[in-house]
Amino acid sequence: MELSKKVEEPPINRLSHLLKIIVQENYLPEANEIVELLNTGQLHETIISYATKVKQRHFGDEIHIRGIIEFSNYCVKQCKYCGIRSNNSKIVRYRMEDEEIITRIKLLHQLGYPTVVLQGGEDPMFSTSRLVNLIKTIKKSVDIVITLSIGERTQEEYVELRKAGAQRFLLRFETCSQELYAKYHPHSSFKKREEALLRIRKAGFQTGTGFLMGLPGSTVEDLARNILYTSKFKPDMIGTGPYIPPEGLTSLSPSGDRNLFFITIALLRLLNPLAHIPATTAFDTFDMRGREKLLKTSCNVFMPNLTPCKYRKLYTLYPSKSRVDKDQWHFLKVDTTLSSLGLTKATGPGDSILPESQNLIQDKGETNE
Ligand code: SAM
Ligand code: SF4
Repeated sequence: MELSKKVEEPPINRLSHLLKIIVQENYLPEANEIVELLNTGQLHETIISYATKVKQRHFGDEIHIRGIIEFSNYCVKQCKYCGIRSNNSKIVRYRMEDEEIITRIKLLHQLGYPTVVLQGGEDPMFSTSRLVNLIKTIKKSVDIVITLSIGERTQEEYVELRKAGAQRFLLRFETCSQELYAKYHPHSSFKKREEALLRIRKAGFQTGTGFLMGLPGSTVEDLARNILYTSKFKPDMIGTGPYIPPEGLTSLSPSGDRNLFFITIALLRLLNPLAHIPATTAFDTFDMRGREKLLKTSCNVFMPNLTPCKYRKLYTLYPSKSRVDKDQWHFLKVDTTLSSLGLTKATGPGDSILPESQNLIQDKGETNE
């Protein structure tokens, strides 16, 4: 069934009960039950309201701020949805110098950011040994938590990066449908992505994952299976956002029902009460207040873009991204924007609060072997 097609409303009482046991008894629903919740518009307000309460219970009104620096838009991969994929010859490529990255992180630290996310394409010029040196230099200069979002590496490489001092890693599985994964990643398979995710966790990182919502060809059933896959993985962080069609890929059909994306995040919150869940930039692309709505409800993390402006406009995963990054969420205005929403900036590094991850919150880089 396509995302946009309507289905018959199932009995509301049974689904209200289902929601209650998810919230009160940590019941993990079956995929078909999640499909029913997604398809029952009558319950959507209740789902958002429960998700808001669950977020409030664990995080109050506090929002963790993670500055993101997109240090390279070179990539060897060809994910079909991504504007910086290797075979897109229409974009200008850049990679930041190590010194530039360090200078930027020092600024970020001065501004009071306790964590930085270093994100980039899979760029061979950022070899593991270069990244290890970079991480060590950063850790010597400033007291800041480093999250990496640099794609797939070997087990040994993940361990080296962890030992150098990076504490967290984000790697979306994108979709757990093997067919869809193969369609969008001709160079790879879902199994390989999953193995990379498991290597990251084994290397001792606080691990974040998630998926792309509304990929053309995906169904509500796929959305439900992705929600379930994420929840069974028990991630420390969940990074999930809507697919925004990149320029030049006219062969792909438009994304589906947008409201479902907000409900998806709310269900992720209900099934993962303790996970850090950011309001991702892509939400602002189709709804100007998308991130605000999420921060007021299900999400407890905001990631302002701290990439230098001259590069930011070149990190074009999708066409409107640079416009979104320049909006009222400019990093100097984050505090004011949060307080206008009745929210406050959290203090401290915002480590994982999952009981099973507490042994990872040291700087030793010990593996889980
Ligand atoms: N290269 C690394 C990786 O793939 O894990 C990190 C950078 S990659 C640009 C970060 C995320 O951007 C991907 O996991 C993908 O979900 C998201 N992304 C790429 N193209 C997108 C698009 N057109 N719309 C929304 N998100 C997109
Ligand atoms: Fe490269 Fe990541 Fe984009 Fe895939 S999603 S093309 S790995 S930057």
